[in-house]
Amino acid sequence: MPLDLSRIARERGVDLRAWPPRYDPAYRPAPDAAEWLPEVERAHPDAREELILAKLRGQVRWAWEKSPFYRRKWDEAGISPDSLRTLRDLARFPVVQKNELRAAQAAYPPFGDYLCIDPVEVARIHGTSGTTGRPTVFGIGRDDWARIAEAHARILWGAGIRPRDRAMICSFFSLYMGSWGALAGVERLGATAFPFGAGVAGQTLMGVQWAREMKPSAFYGTPSYALHFADTAKREGIDPRSLGFRVLFFSGEPGAGIPSTKKQIEETFGAACIDMGSTAEMSPWMTDGECAARGGMHLWQDIVYTEICDPKTFQPLPYGAEGTPVYTHLERTSQPMIRFVAGDLTRWTDAPCACGRTYPRLPQGIYGRIDDMFIVRGENIYPSAIEDVLRAIDGFGGEFRVIISRREAMDDLLVRAEISPGRDAAALEREMRERLQARVGVRPRLELVAQGTIPRTEFKARRVIDDRDLYRKGVSGS
Ligand SMILES: [Zn+2]
Repeated sequence: MPLDLSRIARERGVDLRAWPPRYDPAYRPAPDAAEWLPEVERAHPDAREELILAKLRGQVRWAWEKSPFYRRKWDEAGISPDSLRTLRDLARFPVVQKNELRAAQAAYPPFGDYLCIDPVEVARIHGTSGTTGRPTVFGIGRDDWARIAEAHARILWGAGIRPRDRAMICSFFSLYMGSWGALAGVERLGATAFPFGAGVAGQTLMGVQWAREMKPSAFYGTPSYALHFADTAKREGIDPRSLGFRVLFFSGEPGAGIPSTKKQIEETFGAACIDMGSTAEMSPWMTDGECAARGGMHLWQDIVYTEICDPKTFQPLPYGAEGTPVYTHLERTSQPMIRFVAGDLTRWTDAPCACGRTYPRLPQGIYGRIDDMFIVRGENIYPSAIEDVLRAIDGFGGEFRVIISRREAMDDLLVRAEISPGRDAAALEREMRERLQARVGVRPRLELVAQGTIPRTEFKARRVIDDRDLYRKGVSGS
């Protein structure tokens, strides 16, 4: 049964027959409705794929007509918008890598020749920090920003946020897109936005005090920052549960999808922990987003279409497989990404979710970046696996570092972990070593330190130090 797009246009304030779709900014579901756009969210996947294909055709045609970058790339691959007869044909399109975007921006500054609108129509400039090279510039059109807000509102609705909620946004308001995207979604949804920010000296303590006064019911930030926020509250003698948060939603780090971290956040705050987020290039990035049932992030396929692919060939893999997400915008006019590789690793399934949405899911979230994976004595290890083991251990003090080095021509894995006060260090060390070895396949050395010794981060935690890189590149290297 195909979707009745005329009826959806009448009842839901969105015309999906147009490209890009036209949204009514005044539309909002009834407060007790479970979905923002139920006909699409609960559709049979085949019916929804017809809609996705129609949107994809509009998107690809737009990029082909407006962008020398895509025209060149697709010409070289011998394809064009006409190659797109079914959704499966998308896999014939070459992927886009981050280094290509950087090169395009170097050659055609500042936005690159994949900007598909007149530069005067750019409403917002954001970017990456550029810690690993030339920063990437995001130029977002006004209409795109409105659609980002629309998508985020719809997905936040699925996470259980409602207009009666008060959402405290505790992350940087800077180039970083996460905070702004969360803010846009909260505002479009009609909840009360409390854009508190992060990163200023003393701000966390101030945040705890504000939370006590304002009683926000929703929190946005990174998982490691939420735990730091809770520790700060506890030091002031405040039980984080008493702050009154009902839902905490996260992006920027895999933590909210790591089972023991999720459990710890939920127990610490007495609230639901919701995992979200793909990558800034793909804004609206909440299209990897959990619903209130918390069975792993859904892929909201009719907003951003995601294929989970073989990390070498970038050909789609069946449900059940592990691979790397390849993302495609479906309603982006400014800087559309068509088959963008984010470098993440995940596993997907089409098993039903308790919420009734028919989108595929990532039951374990995005558990690593291909770049974050390190190999020690032949074992592939993700920092998220170490985090999962440690947070499940009673007596773990909350923070850790992984230091990999080479000793006597052998890889050495050192885990420096905090322990809670008054614990039997020898017993904990043994437990941590055994459980880590069972999980990652390598026997680590443990160095236990007192709780609070390792610095907390207000942003994305970087917990792995690989001294072998130093050894390989030479100390004076890049
Ligand atoms: Zn669900």
